[in-house]
Amino acid sequence: MAFLKVVSLEEALEIINSFPLKPRTEMVPLSEALGRVLAEDIVSPINVPPFDRATVDGYALRAEDTFMASESEPVRLRVIGEVNAGDFPDFELKPGESVYISTGAPLPKGADAVIQFEDVDRDGDEVVIYKPAYPGLGVMKAGTDIPKGKLLLKKGTRLGFKETALLSAVGLAEVPVFRKPKVAVISTGNELVLPGEELRPGQIYDINGRAIADAARELGGEAVFLGIARDDRGSLKALIEKGVECCDIVILSGGASGGIRDLTSSIIEELGEVKIHGIAIQPGKPTIIGLIDGKPVFGLPGYPTSCLTNFTLLVAPLLRRLIGRESEVRKVKKKLAHKVFSVKGRRQFLPVRIEGEKAVPILKGSGAVTSFIDADGFIEVPENVEILEAGEEVEVLFFG
Ligand code: AMP
Ligand code: MG
Repeated sequence: MAFLKVVSLEEALEIINSFPLKPRTEMVPLSEALGRVLAEDIVSPINVPPFDRATVDGYALRAEDTFMASESEPVRLRVIGEVNAGDFPDFELKPGESVYISTGAPLPKGADAVIQFEDVDRDGDEVVIYKPAYPGLGVMKAGTDIPKGKLLLKKGTRLGFKETALLSAVGLAEVPVFRKPKVAVISTGNELVLPGEELRPGQIYDINGRAIADAARELGGEAVFLGIARDDRGSLKALIEKGVECCDIVILSGGASGGIRDLTSSIIEELGEVKIHGIAIQPGKPTIIGLIDGKPVFGLPGYPTSCLTNFTLLVAPLLRRLIGRESEVRKVKKKLAHKVFSVKGRRQFLPVRIEGEKAVPILKGSGAVTSFIDADGFIEVPENVEILEAGEEVEVLFFG
């Protein structure tokens, strides 16, 4: 079987976009919300602080009682009690009265200022005040930090510790977030062994399994690594079926070229339908995309750099869509550090490293794992372009 369903990158993205997957949402406890993406706008259900609160330790009073206070003629107010943080005073402060108050405690009715204790003298049951207070001194009014009804966080926000702290401040114990798409990851090849296993002659360690699983997790998905399928029909079919059963998306790598390619595509065709068989880009020609039971199955190239380039171009947008982060920009414009040559008639993606304002092409070839490890992203060399000159502006798409 040759490449039967070769499409352009744009056509491939359109087909992927038409797949019957929809973002789904769930409620999670706030303690598990870190790193998740909000599925709804969050509006504050309360005022923060919920009450007028002292911001210093000192004396709560009526500011107008102190307007005449001076060094030479201090004002004396009667101290009628004490309010500590966590108390709620049920009395009203009358003219000429004050109350000892600690930081974070609610002001009693009637009080509108707090003078810190360092600025006054205490004399028995009186406090001696040497300069006027003004309304609001030493007070944080209810809702001035966060007013009730305020839009706090927008749908699509990824929650970091600041955001979870904010949700905590308004008392939300559960948060609506996008569900993590479940991604099954399968490596293929008789030559592959897992890290930790002994490397026999002719074998190499599996790189793509880890790379794809962790790239998917970084994007907000949940990865299920199903292991290494050997290059035989039984092994490959069993793992693909397992992936379709357990997950929303299945990603294979390797086995997408030569005779093995036919195996992957014929298994997908048997279990579902091959939608794309080859994309007109380099690297990525040997990419297969199918649908089994409504679930996308991606067969990505084996070389790690090619594999991750295609993951970034094809799978990452789908994952972003499923977690409500479609609009996330993962591109920057830079100047090419040196000239690169490409083949005319081939739309090519080249790994580059970013150094300041420059994009430095990495020309080790896609067979080297360090091509993508050393790279920050890649640039596109269009089909009709043979040479990109040093200094030309290029757009760098970040890996992952
Ligand atoms: P294939 O498409 O299976 O012919 O693989 C192309 C190249 O990528 C071969 O050199 C494979 O050994 C290599 N390769 C395939 N899968 C992996 C993997 N999971 N990790 C590292 N290298 C791989
Ligand atoms: Mg292989």
